[in-house]
Amino acid sequence: MTSERITHWIAGRSWTGTAERRGDVYDPATGKVARQVDLADREVVDQAVGAALAAFQEWRHTSVARRTTVLFAFRELLNARREELAALIVSEHGKVHSDALGEVARGLEVVEYACGIAQLSRGSYTEQASTGVDVYSIRQPLGPVAIISPFNFPAMVPMWFFPLAIAAGNTVIVKPSEKDPSAANLLAALWQEAGLPAGVFNVVHGDKPAVDRLLEHPDVKAVSFVGSTPVARHVYETGTRHGKRVQALGGAKNHMLVLPDADLDLTADAAVNAGYGAAGERCMAVSVLVAVDPVGDALVDRIRRRIAGLTVGPGSAPGSEMGPLVTGAHRDKVTGYLDTGVADGAALVVDGRGHPVTGEAADGFWLGPTLFDHVKPGMSVYDDEIFGPVLSVVRVPTYEDGVALINANPYGNGTALFTNDGGAARRFQHEVEVGMVGINVPIPVPVAYYSFGGWKSSLFGDAHAYGEDGVRFFTRGKAVTQRWLDPSHGGINLGFPTNS
Ligand code: NAD
Repeated sequence: MTSERITHWIAGRSWTGTAERRGDVYDPATGKVARQVDLADREVVDQAVGAALAAFQEWRHTSVARRTTVLFAFRELLNARREELAALIVSEHGKVHSDALGEVARGLEVVEYACGIAQLSRGSYTEQASTGVDVYSIRQPLGPVAIISPFNFPAMVPMWFFPLAIAAGNTVIVKPSEKDPSAANLLAALWQEAGLPAGVFNVVHGDKPAVDRLLEHPDVKAVSFVGSTPVARHVYETGTRHGKRVQALGGAKNHMLVLPDADLDLTADAAVNAGYGAAGERCMAVSVLVAVDPVGDALVDRIRRRIAGLTVGPGSAPGSEMGPLVTGAHRDKVTGYLDTGVADGAALVVDGRGHPVTGEAADGFWLGPTLFDHVKPGMSVYDDEIFGPVLSVVRVPTYEDGVALINANPYGNGTALFTNDGGAARRFQHEVEVGMVGINVPIPVPVAYYSFGGWKSSLFGDAHAYGEDGVRFFTRGKAVTQRWLDPSHGGINLGFPTNS
């Protein structure tokens, strides 16, 4: 049986060439190869960038009114086809359907925000800045921009960027993860149906060679990247060396600090939701629970009991709360941490390897929810980003020790404090060195009109994703100083112009 082929989308149509390399795309719930994706070489990337550059010559001159009309049409189509998009995500990523729908909804939010581009990208005007002189500012698009995304949100993460990029007049080349490439192609079809001119939105599938060509291509003006920290660093350094504007969002190790006054049942619910949702394959997942003495035992007990009630199964099955991991290789890597955690001296409270699977699902990439207690810095389960359903509990004697632990961590994506003490909460949001903070909110992904981004090794560059940062990232400012000549402006004066 030949599997379905996923290919590039360039200049408004599917690529018709023959790929030298292809990648397998799995159904994680069965472990079977479901599709094959073409992996772009340098020439294919150049074709896509060429299409984006050609389309930019018209799109940049297209009125804000016309661009906005296309954005609204795309918003309607995306909303109408959200079930279909979610099902596609489930089939390649493995997350449960409700979670995939949530991902689409959060992407839709950014599309809706971008529909306001007229207001968002408005310049300013100062009359009579100097006598007879007016000054004003405008914001203009950059050109073709590349968006390189990770496997864990195949629809939402590209949508953190391309709605604003396109609304602002840029053209786009999306390079999705080769593990779950199909969502990007459906999004391309929706753009076409919405009336977006050919070449404004292109999709190039591939891996490192495609990414590296985008990073060095002289016609790519900006790069938005999301993925693991080593690749984010590589993308930032290579892209900026080639003169591009780059925002590169990296990995995470998110801590949830629990003070003794917190409601422990509600806190345990939140820890389970944020630790095991999407099988822990979220950059905002809670992977470290920091329990301030004396609540450690009570919390661990509550989490253990909740894990026992979780339904792990195929993402497409109605009752499933947690699906499989994305690939067999990733599942094996995550499972390896269970052995090293034990060898390092952590207590394995719940071992996810005991999760029962039968029938067609038996060969899926399963690992059940796993809980470690008495974890300490220096153990690999604490130090590494595991990116799976593995929650580690660290015990600390005081609030100050908890904050010191979080601030010493090289990552700084998200964090949360659970407490009923407003003063402690206020102190925490002031002191903690992390880009996104939740107060009794375990996954504090900002709404579309606030920007998303971590600190330290979780983000390279100075622009966060979407919100005002997104508008600034995808436009460049121009200041115009204007006067209308009259006889009073005559005469020779070689001095530096000053204002009067
Ligand atoms: P990844 O770094 O392996 O891949 C990300 C993208 O880079 C993919 O498109 C991939 O094809 C490409 N890529 C992979 N290796 C490359 C290389 N050597 N050179 C050039 N390009 C390369 O990440 P992933 O496994 O797909 O996604 C999981 C990671 O993404 C986790 O670390 C997670 O924390 C992170 N993530 C971060 C955020 C955030 O907002 N900070 C959001 C989502 C995911």
